[in-house]
Amino acid sequence: MTRGVDLRDVLRVDPGRSARLGRLDPGRTFGHDRASAELATQANLVRLGDLQDRLWAESRRAVLVVLQGIDAAGKDGTINKVMEAFNPQGCPVTSFKVPSTEELAHDFLWRVHQHAPRKGEIGIFNRSHYEDVLVVRVHGIVPKRVWSKRYGEINDFERMLAASGTTIVKFFLQIDRDEQRQRFQARYDDPTRRWKFSMGDLDERKLWDDYQRAFEDALTKTSTPWAPWYVVPANHKWFRDLAVSSVLARTLDDLRPAYPPEPDLPAHLVIE
Ligand code: AMP
Ligand code: MG
Repeated sequence: MTRGVDLRDVLRVDPGRSARLGRLDPGRTFGHDRASAELATQANLVRLGDLQDRLWAESRRAVLVVLQGIDAAGKDGTINKVMEAFNPQGCPVTSFKVPSTEELAHDFLWRVHQHAPRKGEIGIFNRSHYEDVLVVRVHGIVPKRVWSKRYGEINDFERMLAASGTTIVKFFLQIDRDEQRQRFQARYDDPTRRWKFSMGDLDERKLWDDYQRAFEDALTKTSTPWAPWYVVPANHKWFRDLAVSSVLARTLDDLRPAYPPEPDLPAHLVIE
């Protein structure tokens, strides 16, 4: 595949089709090279800034961006890079960690719903309700009869958000096992990044295949017309940034956010 294709079309998991992660190369770049991709990303960021400004001014609709991926897939890096386009006031980021006792005392969507973006905002989820069919499934934190119902519950929840004026875009950042190994090693070796590494990451890494199966099922069962998943090849950070910024820019473009009319003001006014 070559440059010029709409990345939205090639990266989307078509609703009803199964996401075959094993067949997708996390290193593919669709004919882009690094230099041209970085230029195109910068152009996307400018466009995104303008679109966010309009969305914020309009204050009628919200956008929810969900980021998932195995450890070291680049969720934090994507937020850093792509979200620099936005005015932080209109762009709350929520990182979902191990649930608190209070959160566990409620249904799994309770803590998530509270952070759904307000009208005018672009809300970013660094991890999300999908952890409840990923880590929770892989570690058997709840029985299968509980987590297996969650795909449908997630679809219903997202349908409700969409019907209430929230556009949902979900990105799965895909890296391969060797890329994760290199990134962990680099984290460990770099004193400014070692804090991000823990020995527990290596235990999780042993469960690689289980995680891939859980990701595949989540992508297959919850890519819907109202909340599609995009599988982003993320071995190359420059391609990942291009892909995420392109999909977001096209999605926001389609919303055609517009500055609100101001009917109460006179047609001409010179302020002295
Ligand atoms: P990090 O994103 O590296 O700061 O790590 C957050 C940790 O919280 C990850 O290990 C997640 O798997 C874990 N986590 C997030 N949501 C849940 C959840 N619902 N249940 C269990 N663990 C979770
Ligand atoms: Mg971590």
